[in-house]
Amino acid sequence: MSNLFAQIPSVDRIISSQDCQPLIAKYGRSLVTSSTREILESIRGDLGKPGKRIPSVAEIVQLLQSQIREVTNSSLKPVINLTGTVLHTNLGRAALPEVAISSMVTIARGPSNLEYDLESGKRGDRDNHIEKVIMEITGAEAATVVNNNAAAVLLTLNTLASGKEVPVSRGELVEIGGSFRIPEIMLRSGCKLVEVGATNRTHLKDYQQAINVNTALVMKVHTSNYEIKGFTNSVTDQELAGLAANANIPFITDLGSGTLVDLSLFGLPHEPTAQEARSAGADVVTFSGDKLLGGPQAGIIIGKKTLISAIKANPLKRALRIDKITMAALAEVLNLYRDPDTLSERIPTLRYLTRSIQEIEQLAQDVLPSLVSILAGNAQVEIVDTYSQIGSGSLPLDLLPSKELSIVPSKPSDARLQQITKAFRQLPTPVIGRIHDGKLLFDLRTLDKPADLTEQLDHLDCQ
Ligand SMILES: *Cc1c(COP(=O)(O)O)cnc(C)c1O
Repeated sequence: MSNLFAQIPSVDRIISSQDCQPLIAKYGRSLVTSSTREILESIRGDLGKPGKRIPSVAEIVQLLQSQIREVTNSSLKPVINLTGTVLHTNLGRAALPEVAISSMVTIARGPSNLEYDLESGKRGDRDNHIEKVIMEITGAEAATVVNNNAAAVLLTLNTLASGKEVPVSRGELVEIGGSFRIPEIMLRSGCKLVEVGATNRTHLKDYQQAINVNTALVMKVHTSNYEIKGFTNSVTDQELAGLAANANIPFITDLGSGTLVDLSLFGLPHEPTAQEARSAGADVVTFSGDKLLGGPQAGIIIGKKTLISAIKANPLKRALRIDKITMAALAEVLNLYRDPDTLSERIPTLRYLTRSIQEIEQLAQDVLPSLVSILAGNAQVEIVDTYSQIGSGSLPLDLLPSKELSIVPSKPSDARLQQITKAFRQLPTPVIGRIHDGKLLFDLRTLDKPADLTEQLDHLDCQ
């Protein structure tokens, strides 16, 4: 046995071999050396097991190459979202417009005037790059931006209500998914949630009774991912704004997927806009940058100048602020809203949402033959009617008619279906669909062009 050990090439011999030099040039001596040690370690461990022999230096370098490739490959990569959910949180939500992408690249490359006033040569405020355009679009007195809408809610409550009470309707104690729940975010922001009304019905008098000297503000949460139907009542924004004004406290609205344009102009269901929330009397409105707005992950806070100034001055703002790359993208996306007529072409989220059923059907017809031929003997493929969802908690009950490819294994079994689904996930650009009723389904609403799918099908391995 010790004789066998002695036959294993040394680390030195491997890394000084001719074969190894290109690896060192590409990945550096340090990584190549440590990976070589790991491989030799596992060869030693396997020694003496039946059928195991000592690999040659060339074979070890081969192993080394694939191991290093695996570690250095970024685990974050693009996928093709054919789940039928346009804004899929797990798949990164909104795809950005080209102008936003090129601006991010330009700003990432070097220094910028992120917090520098080119006019005066003095320190500037990073919000300056987006505040004006948000004010222009929404009509708000002031605006600021943080990392996401959860942060926007946290920062707003922490600034305006820490140590005090905040009444919220029992019908609006939303959980957004993951770990964002209104009661928990309130606890973390240091304020005390006072539940008012009942799950299905809340009246103005419920709020009236809850307001006392310890009340910091009145809050309305847009129930973006569910709807309460039947015997219901909620208090309008206008009534809540009036109540808060009488008590001399702010009224704030968490819109969630706040849009900046009336989606019904594009033939989509209406979703309350940031402008509407503000006109209905909200002193502060919070919403996401990467839901219906179609921009990068961000939380936008708009409202009264005095309140926004207080929010900006909160030391937590520093911990929640957005970076220059997000700023670059957001500024470009917001800029597009200055021309509402071209939005549905320029913002991918809106382009997907407004795609005609004819166009989606055409995409399905274009990819069908390649899929049928590659899956021959393994599965049947056909085009079927379906409905897409907007996703990210927006308009949960409104579904958009669409077309999808339905893939059914030739020998139907759950294991076989899982195997085929996994094969699509293992393509160079993984293709993510949805499984329903023994079928793998690909909604084509969010496929940019047929080649994205068809040109990589040679790599599909269903075995
Ligand atoms: C989505 C949502 C949030 C959280 O926003 P993120 O941008 O995901 O952090 C908060 N409140 C409501 C009502 C939402 O819909």
